[in-house]
Amino acid sequence: MNTDQDGPTFAELGLRPELLQALTTLGYEEPTPIQLEAIPLVIEGRDLLGQAATGTGKTAAFSLPVLEHLEAHRAGRSPIALVLVPTRELAVQVSEAFHRYGKDLGARVLPVYGGAPIVRQLRSLEAGVDVVVATPGRALDLLNRGSLRLDEIATVVLDEADEMLDMGFAEDLDAILDATPEQRQTVLFSATMPRRLDALARRHLRDPARITIAKEQAPAGEAPRVRQTAYVVPRAAKPAALGRILDIEAPTAAIVFCRTREEVDTLTETLNGRGYRAEPLHGGMSQEQRDKVMGRLRSGTADLLVATDVAARGLDIEQLTHVVNYDVPSAPESYVHRIGRVGRAGREGVAITLAEPREHRQLKTIEKVAGATISVQTVPTVADLRARRLDLTRAALRESLLGDELDRFRVVVETLADEFDLMEVALAAVKLAHEAVGGTDDDEEIPQVGFRTDRDAGRGPAGQGSGRGERPARRAPGGPTARLFVGLGREAGIRPGDLVGAITGETELRGKDIGSIEIHQRFALVEIPEPAADEVVQALRATMIKGRKATIRRDRA
Ligand code: AMP
Repeated sequence: MNTDQDGPTFAELGLRPELLQALTTLGYEEPTPIQLEAIPLVIEGRDLLGQAATGTGKTAAFSLPVLEHLEAHRAGRSPIALVLVPTRELAVQVSEAFHRYGKDLGARVLPVYGGAPIVRQLRSLEAGVDVVVATPGRALDLLNRGSLRLDEIATVVLDEADEMLDMGFAEDLDAILDATPEQRQTVLFSATMPRRLDALARRHLRDPARITIAKEQAPAGEAPRVRQTAYVVPRAAKPAALGRILDIEAPTAAIVFCRTREEVDTLTETLNGRGYRAEPLHGGMSQEQRDKVMGRLRSGTADLLVATDVAARGLDIEQLTHVVNYDVPSAPESYVHRIGRVGRAGREGVAITLAEPREHRQLKTIEKVAGATISVQTVPTVADLRARRLDLTRAALRESLLGDELDRFRVVVETLADEFDLMEVALAAVKLAHEAVGGTDDDEEIPQVGFRTDRDAGRGPAGQGSGRGERPARRAPGGPTARLFVGLGREAGIRPGDLVGAITGETELRGKDIGSIEIHQRFALVEIPEPAADEVVQALRATMIKGRKATIRRDRA
């Protein structure tokens, strides 16, 4: 156990050793606020009405208590817990979380959602499962076929309940809940608490405990002078995006906060691999190791510290200029606390947050609670990066021109001037200087995506991911997506905006209908709603993109 763990621990929440072991292996150092409040209540068997958005750690808050009682509740082949979620993406995520936490308990978890072959789901149900994580439509379908038996259900979880209502699942939810035993426990999590949700809670929850994370306002007048920026980045692009942002920001010293020890270790390795001088700091390290790391940061041998909250607690680093949240923090308080490390004593500080497209709401809550304005920006492009590098070269040359040790090079310029124009000589010299300080040219384009806002939530992917599960038909376009191959890429100067422009200009589709866009060296891949695929192929074949004809076809990969 580490010495600086002064906050509450998972062990104190009354979790069994197999679960504690799983959490340690995952590198979770301490419970998030929602976990701290919810876990004991849910273990105790209370119904719960919890207001919490994605990124707060709510999944563990309901799955750990369900797993805690797994052995006691286990009922042969019938499931003992049912988790209802709005989308297929979330169904997969939540069942993966159950798997991760419940490995040592032999938890049998099955995600069921529309769009996937039902036969496999039927077979798994037949073989026996403990936890079913389902979208409401598919759950009802399986229930009506008699394949999903709900008579042994001890706990029902409604996750992202507001989104399920928004997507028109209210009646499905009623029908499913009515088919479960009356004495079951019901846990409802929602990012917002609209009236309609209250009605649902009144119908199905019994004397629920209520938890709201992050309501109170931070004390006024304490906000440090910190420039606060968030970048929307798909998970897979985070390491590259962080590198790019660090290149542009050029911090003197920075802390990058991660959620888990594993993330700290992996990110440190990645950053060092990319040529940064990063040091890890987490609760699993000995005091001696930690002192060494701090020494290297203070002496300037390292310029990045990658840390968990627990490990960074109490650290005061004089020269710190930047705080980076590699993920949106699980609670606004933690955000406020982290960024309080910069912008001290009248100095300017910078706080940067990498947010995934679905973490819009969590960021909004932080803005409200922290009383801060976080400007959302797109990740610097390759062109931005190159422009910035040229700026640095120009600054270096300027400094050199202002110095006075240039005379010994005069002979070089004079001899070359006989043969070449002075401008050309200067250009060649700048090129050499630029290459000498520029490091490697990392010219991977990072996908430019926006937040998946609440309005988009029931629709097609806006910027990432693939098809997002079943939803009522009135929700056009929704449903399955197709990938198009476009035979022009970076070499042809193609940017995501060019493809969005071509598609929205030539077809009925709007920007938000278009999913992920990958730009490769010689080609690009664009995700669009399946029903529109043929139309888009025809339209793009008939037009030019950036003044060029391109091969357009469905991508078969
Ligand atoms: P959620 O809000 O449930 O979507 O969780 C957000 C992310 O936080 C997930 O990637 C979890 O693996 C991670 N997470 C949840 N609880 C903790 C914790 N106590 N410490 C570190 N990471 C956590």
